[in-house]
Amino acid sequence: MRTVVIAGCGTEARTVADEVVRQGGRAVLLCKEPSGIADRPNGRMEVKASSLIAVRGAPGRMTAVTEDGDVECSSVIVADEPASVALMPWTTPLRSLPEGRGPRGTVVLDLRGGPDRRGRAHALEAAIEMLADGTKVVVLVDEVLAYGHDELLYRQAQQAGALFIRPLAVEREGQRMDVMDSISGAIISIFPDMVVSETAVNQPCTDRGSVSMGPLSTYRRGVLRLRANLLEDELRTEARAAAAIALRPPAEMPRPAMVDEGKCSACLTCVRICPFRAAYMNADGKARIDGDRCMACGKCAAACAGKAIALPGSTDTDLDARIVAAMEGE
Ligand code: SF4
Ligand code: SF4
Repeated sequence: MRTVVIAGCGTEARTVADEVVRQGGRAVLLCKEPSGIADRPNGRMEVKASSLIAVRGAPGRMTAVTEDGDVECSSVIVADEPASVALMPWTTPLRSLPEGRGPRGTVVLDLRGGPDRRGRAHALEAAIEMLADGTKVVVLVDEVLAYGHDELLYRQAQQAGALFIRPLAVEREGQRMDVMDSISGAIISIFPDMVVSETAVNQPCTDRGSVSMGPLSTYRRGVLRLRANLLEDELRTEARAAAAIALRPPAEMPRPAMVDEGKCSACLTCVRICPFRAAYMNADGKARIDGDRCMACGKCAAACAGKAIALPGSTDTDLDARIVAAMEGE
């Protein structure tokens, strides 16, 4: 039986949870204050007093990272005001940082607004290990007030090459993170492979789109957002659609874009416009798509003059809807 995690407490969340159960799935409702909502006796609906922190994986085999641990599921539906969900693409809770060998590439440690002293020490120790392993580490801090062991850790991380920034503002667009330095006012653009944070992050991945905009409803494949303030009949329709998409077998989920190298003229359009930095040029000077990053939004396929990009498994209608959604999201 497929499990769908639903974040929210309101009528939207309950309606979609009922719809998931009605369509043969199991719903796990994450609700901070679940008074008045009860588990279903047959186990088809479970209510957890928790909230969503991050989502990992691809549709069909996802992990919802909650305050109380991980929940394996096929999809996630956010049916709450985005501000109340501490969700952001590619964000990993600090406590989930792997022991030993950490992630490669560029890692942003977001230590603004917390965590506590132990958490900071854990983050800095992890940063020192990652730096020794060749990972680039950017640390976002409110201020460095350190003494004793903490000061030593900050110094070690800095000497090992960590870049400390005290940001005035942080904005995310796809996988790009623009950090405005509070002293110089300069904008530093970072393309993190992982963002590690323990605190709620302002701009949730659900700030664009909704179920009714088509299969691509958020920045993240497999994460759907239900619109708020719908009339009763609109809500039922949206909940039905969300449940149907969330319970869809993985084979029917949109798959990453693919390039026909024979048709690629290396114009770089797809590389420039992909909001998720999934398109890149390979050693032969042809475009290629990173399947882990591609959200199947269809934007590159729409822009490629040589019609070299296809979205396997998508019907034309599907693709049209996704392209419209991607363009509207600009
Ligand atoms: S937009 Fe099309 S032709 Fe241009 S680089 Fe990408 S795949 Fe190649
Ligand atoms: S479909 Fe194209 S533009 Fe959209 S995420 Fe994938 S590679 Fe990027």
